[in-house]
Amino acid sequence: MIEFNNVTKIYPDGTTAIKEFNLKVDDGELVTLIGPSGCGKTTTMKMVNRLIEPTSGEIYINGKNINDYNIHELRWNIGYVLQEIALFPHMSIEENIAVVPEMKKWRRGKVRERSKQLLEMVGLDPSTYLTRMPSELSGGEQQRVGVIRALAADPDIILMDEPFSALDPISREQLQQDIRQLQQEIKKTIVFVTHDMDEAMALGDKVCLMREGKIVQVDSPQQLILNP
Ligand code: ADP
Ligand code: ADP
Repeated sequence: MIEFNNVTKIYPDGTTAIKEFNLKVDDGELVTLIGPSGCGKTTTMKMVNRLIEPTSGEIYINGKNINDYNIHELRWNIGYVLQEIALFPHMSIEENIAVVPEMKKWRRGKVRERSKQLLEMVGLDPSTYLTRMPSELSGGEQQRVGVIRALAADPDIILMDEPFSALDPISREQLQQDIRQLQQEIKKTIVFVTHDMDEAMALGDKVCLMREGKIVQVDSPQQLILNP
């Protein structure tokens, strides 16, 4: 569970990115954050794993203030998928997926099993893809690996910041289906940032509309259609 309690972020240059932000994301829930560029979506996400510190207010994960976690413990428990494809170029797909599991000292056999299972989940044949290098994958395939890499060590929470924005519509549709399926299979707590309303409505259990650092409306997609 993630809870934002009256969070405000003012950058050193005086820009107020987030203002008195309150949001609760329940266990196993997928919340989409949607709003125009500059409304504070990325700032909100970065505060959750302490890449950015709030100016005031608190953020809780599973009832515990994020400042009370060991920083490694916090970040290992959060899978973060960014817009920019950020696979390590000099590592194979298997090595990319194994980074966090190895930090957590998982056994080699367990890491391999997990890697295979995750690749299969997103339709990439492990016998071909485990040993490939990122440069040998298409953009859409790299994004898929980026998504499953964030899931590899079984984090409770997954943050996705416009992970599909660089993709063509077909890969994007495919990945949206993957996310929906993953969500049903593993029931993770997910915050998904997008500026595409169709994507926000298709994926979210709840959709959170943001404007100028504030939440304008939070509702299920069904309710949003009824009360736009
Ligand atoms: P995105 O929303 O695509 O993830 P960013 O979060 O990098 O992009 O940037 C969002 C907005 O914040 C952009 O308008 C960018 O110009 C602005 N921005 C990012 N970093 C800084 C900075 N260090 N100083 C001022 N503005 C910034
Ligand atoms: P979004 O992800 O919705 O595009 P951001 O969270 O990136 O929005 O940015 C929110 C606001 O904060 C914008 O006005 C942006 O220009 C500003 N901003 C983002 N990063 C910085 C920064 N490092 N320094 C100053 N202003 C920033």
